[in-house]
Amino acid sequence: MKERLVRFMTGRNGHDELNRFLLVLDLLFLLLSAIFREGSGRIFWPLAVVFLIITYFRMFSRDLVRRGEENARYLQLLSRINGSFRLSREKWSQRKDYKFFVCPECKTTLRVPKGRGKIKIVCRKCGHSFTGKS
Ligand SMILES: [Zn+2]
Repeated sequence: MKERLVRFMTGRNGHDELNRFLLVLDLLFLLLSAIFREGSGRIFWPLAVVFLIITYFRMFSRDLVRRGEENARYLQLLSRINGSFRLSREKWSQRKDYKFFVCPECKTTLRVPKGRGKIKIVCRKCGHSFTGKS
């Protein structure tokens, strides 16, 4: 039985990070559909079914290239979200001592000590300089 399953899954996508995320969404929608049975809450059941179909479709898919691309895009998005979350947490914890500027040229976030008045800020990445009040 196990052997047959292994043979069946050979050359198929199986579970990747994106599918794990989709499964969590499925469970969430199932849970919500169990809680909210009336009115607009009825949307959760079809949503759960649709996401479950997508999850299984991706799991058994033989188009490994495309599924790999989807997964890579998901991971990229995830790391971008994590990165911006970390940055805003850092900004918040340093808000008393530093002021943050975004370089108008390359959009890099720059940190400047607070309370220096009007100063010239030089971007450490692209060298562009601009003035700002710290
Ligand atoms: Zn710059």
